[in-house]
Amino acid sequence: RTVYLNGEYLPETEAKVSIFDRGFLMADGVYEVTSVLGGKLIDFEGHAKRLERSLNELDMKKPAAFDDLLEIHRELVRVNEIEDGLIYLQITRGSPGDRDFVFPDPETTEPTLVLFTQNKPGLADNPAAKKGMKIISIEDVRWGRRDIKTVQLLYPSMGKMMAKKAGADDAWLVEDGHVTEGTSNNAYIVKNGKIITRALSNDILHGITRAAVLRCAKEAQMEVEERNFTIAEAQEADEAFVTSASAFVMPVVEIDGAQLGDGVPGPVANRLREIYLEESLKKAI
Ligand code: PLP
Repeated sequence: RTVYLNGEYLPETEAKVSIFDRGFLMADGVYEVTSVLGGKLIDFEGHAKRLERSLNELDMKKPAAFDDLLEIHRELVRVNEIEDGLIYLQITRGSPGDRDFVFPDPETTEPTLVLFTQNKPGLADNPAAKKGMKIISIEDVRWGRRDIKTVQLLYPSMGKMMAKKAGADDAWLVEDGHVTEGTSNNAYIVKNGKIITRALSNDILHGITRAAVLRCAKEAQMEVEERNFTIAEAQEADEAFVTSASAFVMPVVEIDGAQLGDGVPGPVANRLREIYLEESLKKAI
């Protein structure tokens, strides 16, 4: 696989980053994951805009312009012959050559920019979408700026491990009795045809797929309500689903052991998945 590191395309075994990199020592970095379908990028602009916002919120320098980032994404897709897959992009505050809590001077320390591809043939035909996911709920103990897409992913990893140990597929995070989001996705329930999902705030990541899916729902005259919900309400819902750039719209059929509806993906989730994929393929670049 060819990867990108600070201006160079390299074989993955030759791409090396300093042990003093603040991403490595302090999780001082941000990332984005963009899907590739049919060799084209899904919602690249949305991801590029959120990346810029994450960098601004953390006072980090942007190492490349929008057009350059687009070019790097396209070149990696080309050289790695990615038909369906993912592109991971990470920017850290760079390597000041020692460990220090204080941010290094941006005049002397350049950010580290890394991109690599993940080949996922048939990404949009994931059999899990037909089966639906089983979810457990766990407490949300993450920090208070979940709107920034940082590389601090230890708790989401632990959440996925807890789900796996419990025989489930993923976990929803609960704070003050309400679902915030999934470990790596936004969470939704459907009741009497109405789509309910938590409103945007610093408590959740502002999902690029969330924005697109809610747009699709409104265009299809589906009712959307942005508000908090509890696990108990979710267990009584007709349907549930999650959204993310890599999973698109993924139905949920069980929450903490309670089966939703007939225990199979519901019509709203199925329809949204279809519309979302169709719309985003049309706009893919
Ligand atoms: N919420 C969290 C915590 C995430 O990690 C992600 C994606 O990685 C999402 C939501 C979904 O965001 P997007 O649709 O932009 O992939």
